[in-house]
Amino acid sequence: GGSGIAHPQDWPAYDYPVQTPPQDEARIADLLARMTLEEKIGQLVQADLCCVTPDDVRDYNLGSVLNGGNSGPYGNDLAPASDWLRLADEFYTASVDRSDGGVGIPVIWGTDAVHGHANIIGATVFPHNIGLGAMRDVELIERIGAATAAEVRVTGQEWTFAPTVAVPQDFRWGRAYEGYSSNPALVASYVGAMVRGLQGPPGNQDLLAGPHVLASTKHFLADGGTDNGTDQGDSSIDETELREIHGAPYGPAIAEGVSTVMASFSSWQGVKMTGNESLLTGVLKDRMDFGGFTVSDWNAHGQVAGCTNESCPQALLAGIDMYMAPDSWRPIYNDLLTRAHAGELPMARIDDAVSRILRVKARLGLLDAPRPSQRYLSGQYDVLGAPEHRALAREAVRKSMVLLRNDGVLPLAPGGRLLVAGEGADDIARQSGGWTLSWQGTGLTNDLFPGATSIWAGLQHGVESAGGSAELSPDGSFTQRPDAAVVVFGERPYAEFQGDRATLALDSDLTGPYATMQRLREQGIPVVALMITGRPLYVNEALNSADAFVVAWLPGSEGAGVADVLLGDSAGNARFDFTGKLPAAWPRTPDMADGALFDFGYGLTYASAPTAWETLPLVATGEVGDSRVWFSEGVPAAAWSLHIADPGQPGSQTRITTVPAEALDGRARITAVNHVVQEGARRFDIASGEAAISVSTFEPIDITRETNADIMLLFTVKVDRAAEWSGIAMTSGGTNRAV
Ligand code: BGC
Repeated sequence: GGSGIAHPQDWPAYDYPVQTPPQDEARIADLLARMTLEEKIGQLVQADLCCVTPDDVRDYNLGSVLNGGNSGPYGNDLAPASDWLRLADEFYTASVDRSDGGVGIPVIWGTDAVHGHANIIGATVFPHNIGLGAMRDVELIERIGAATAAEVRVTGQEWTFAPTVAVPQDFRWGRAYEGYSSNPALVASYVGAMVRGLQGPPGNQDLLAGPHVLASTKHFLADGGTDNGTDQGDSSIDETELREIHGAPYGPAIAEGVSTVMASFSSWQGVKMTGNESLLTGVLKDRMDFGGFTVSDWNAHGQVAGCTNESCPQALLAGIDMYMAPDSWRPIYNDLLTRAHAGELPMARIDDAVSRILRVKARLGLLDAPRPSQRYLSGQYDVLGAPEHRALAREAVRKSMVLLRNDGVLPLAPGGRLLVAGEGADDIARQSGGWTLSWQGTGLTNDLFPGATSIWAGLQHGVESAGGSAELSPDGSFTQRPDAAVVVFGERPYAEFQGDRATLALDSDLTGPYATMQRLREQGIPVVALMITGRPLYVNEALNSADAFVVAWLPGSEGAGVADVLLGDSAGNARFDFTGKLPAAWPRTPDMADGALFDFGYGLTYASAPTAWETLPLVATGEVGDSRVWFSEGVPAAAWSLHIADPGQPGSQTRITTVPAEALDGRARITAVNHVVQEGARRFDIASGEAAISVSTFEPIDITRETNADIMLLFTVKVDRAAEWSGIAMTSGGTNRAV
């Protein structure tokens, strides 16, 4: 339960526009009457590819599977597209197998196609949402949704966990780039278009007959409103702010007939959303008339008060219809079944949840659909990264770039000699960000992006085809004096868990290019700073050090869009102007509380007068370190405290700080990261609020494999009634909130 919504009548009322045809309602009623309790419970459970087989889907009548994080077909998240489709067939075939006399409801497969079908090699990778927010182009949003849906259908999935409609209020949050903007009206204006692009219009039935997939608006509610921007944290805002800022996108989504809504990991005023009946049921389903089904997030049910990953009837009772129980699906299924048999769960609630899921499946056309490989677009691999999709992404890149400073160096004359510097210049993974081919988007090389163009490649092509020459040089050195330089810098890929920061400063190990900019400029070479970033950050030194400053956000696979705008024609005129405007305010210092340097909506064009630049003051960023904490084995749920020895010198044992469990509770937390370990530990489920850490499988750490650390903190985690765990926190800039 959990209440807190004092005024449900203040929330806007909607009419869910999706009408289930009477014959489908009759069919669903008939199915419901024939389904066993086992079959009903199975529909409520979604398992992850990591931990489920087609036989399991058949035996447990599972309603859905997903590929989350680093899970892909047959244990390979970089599997070829044909493997995805083959596995989709296997799941489907198992789900409709009626050899045991069951009803055989077809399974649906959900995937994070959050900026294109970016889990698939060769797919078009669109700019992340923060860049789309800079475009202010609703019509283009719909076309991006449609192109994404078409690419998803090639590999047999029916459902994307998108769009994220977070309205991030604090960009220290590592998922801020998944949201379009900090401005609720802007987010609300996009949502309907993206849902329509993915699903087709609300009246659309039989989605599978056309190039459509189910959409999921997430994460309900106030994922972008947690205190200090802490991922999965608590939002202490009042009900008015909750409704007007974070609730704003949900009405338009419902009005557009969105089929699913994913509940947020976060809590509002202390109550986890996955168990928040007044918001899930009272507001979303009753007041806003949402007629699709709700799905919980990755083991988020385990964070609900009184729940574990293995048992959480509270979520169903609060209004969750489908449990995303990646590795915990079996105990969740058994627990729900046992409780349902014992009469602890109202049949009406179970039937409501099952009916909602069946209505969505009926709308898909799934109940009569052939197996995935026989469906529209299936197996048409040339649709992945199709030229018209790439052209669309390139257009989005052009429109998303924001010009913050131009002393007149832009547009660049393409006929001259151009130096392209910075380690991010020829790195498609870096320009794509998290949720690209892997969960965090790390460890990827350009050859995994066939058909894509890096920023360097786009500039090189543009310059050379105009008779100029281009030189790529990560450190900014050159063989022949250039006429101008583009220095690419900014963030490295990250996703949830790894992305949170304590301040809005760029991590200190990423500021090296500032010196390159300064050096080039001292030599009289005009410098364009091109920033790859998921968020506005304090980068005054870069703004001071360059003659022009462009924010490219996370542009994705079509780096050529950058060249379109930066390079002028032979007459020195722009070919495309800058149209992008800041989707959120840009900070003056590492703390947004000090005010904005550039407001929401700011963005220069080529017609803007050259900036009379006043040197910006630099602020010490006072970084403590982006600590990455590993545990060598599972830590039982228990009171625990964290002892941190900052040795000054690795190996020494001085200055031990003890952080008691109470101090870590809710506010501070440990961020566990596993990108060093590719297999085994896929995800960490950390509920610091409950002082519970569960790390399912893990391997010993080889710290020497982590090369970008500049400080190491040795620490010991002490668990009540248990032994001590030792580990190493690496720091490479940023801040460790746990410290
Ligand atoms: C994320 C969701 C995502 C899900 C499945 C979760 O950890 O919060 O946004 O859809 O994983 O990968």
